[in-house]
Amino acid sequence: MSSAQNPLPGVLRWSLGDLTITVMNDGYLQGSLDLVTRIGRDEAGALQAAGFRAHDPRITLNAFLITGPGIEPILIDTGMGSFGGPSLGRVPAALAAAGVSPESIGTVLLTHLHPDHAGGLIAGEDIAAYPNAELVVHADEVAHWLDDGTLSRAPDGAKPYFEMARKATAPYAGRLRTVTGGTVAPSIEAVPLPGHTPGHTGYRITSGDTSLLMWADIVHLPAIQFKQPEAGMVFDTDGEQACSVRRRMLDVVASDRTFVAGAHLEFPALGYVARDGAAYSFVPELWVTAQ
Ligand SMILES: [Zn+2]
Repeated sequence: MSSAQNPLPGVLRWSLGDLTITVMNDGYLQGSLDLVTRIGRDEAGALQAAGFRAHDPRITLNAFLITGPGIEPILIDTGMGSFGGPSLGRVPAALAAAGVSPESIGTVLLTHLHPDHAGGLIAGEDIAAYPNAELVVHADEVAHWLDDGTLSRAPDGAKPYFEMARKATAPYAGRLRTVTGGTVAPSIEAVPLPGHTPGHTGYRITSGDTSLLMWADIVHLPAIQFKQPEAGMVFDTDGEQACSVRRRMLDVVASDRTFVAGAHLEFPALGYVARDGAAYSFVPELWVTAQ
C-alpha cells in the first residue's frame, strides 16, 4: 500500500492550562466551486488561486479531543466515519495514535448533525463507535434533523442528510442530551452560532486564564471566506444568517485576539484572526514540540 493510501495519523497535542487539546484530522472532502454561494464563481476561483489553493477546493476536516485531570475524555465531533470516501474517516486512527480508547470517551459534543461531524458516531452500519459516551447536541439541531415533520417537508435532495443524521445518532437514543448554551461539560461552554444549521454550535474550552474557541463551521474555505466573509456554502440551512454570524464572529475574535480552532481550518487548525483591510487573515499558532 502506498503512503498516500495509508497516511500517518494527523494528530497534534496542545496544552491549554491543565487540559490537553488533541487536534485529529479526519481527512478531507474533495469539493468544487459549485459549493460556494453568495459570490461569483470567478471571484471564488481568484481567491483560491491567490491563497495558493487548488481551483477545486479540498476541505480539511478535523475533530478535537479534550483530556485533563479528573475528567473523562471529551470529543468535539467525530469526523465522517463510513459516510465518506477513502480520503475521510481517519479520526479512529488519530484517537488510537493519541492513546485514547473509544470506550473511555465519556462525552461527545457535536457542533451540528451534518455527516462530516456526526458520521463517526457509528462504526459499521449501526454500532455506537463510542459505547459509553453521552451525546450532547443543541436542541434546535435535534428539532431540525431528527423530527419526522421536518424530514417529510424537506426537498428530496436534502432528505439523505436527514437520514444520515438519524442513522448516526440512532445508537445513542436514551443518552442524547440537548442543550441551548451555557456550561455543557467540565470547562466547556456551548456557543450557539445558528445559520449553517439551525443548532450549529461552537464550544469554548477554558482552563485557568487560557481559553480556546472551537467555532465549528464558521469558515469552510479559508482561502475564500477570510477574504470574503460574504461567501457561503450550499449546505447552509440559512445562508443569510450563516453569513451575518460569520461576519460578527470574525469581527469579535479579531478584536479580542481570541485563540480559535475550526472543524475546517487547515490542520492543525489552531490560531488567530487578524484584520486585513476590510477583510481578515488567519494566523496559525506556532507549532512547538514542548507541549
Ligand atoms: Zn462541516
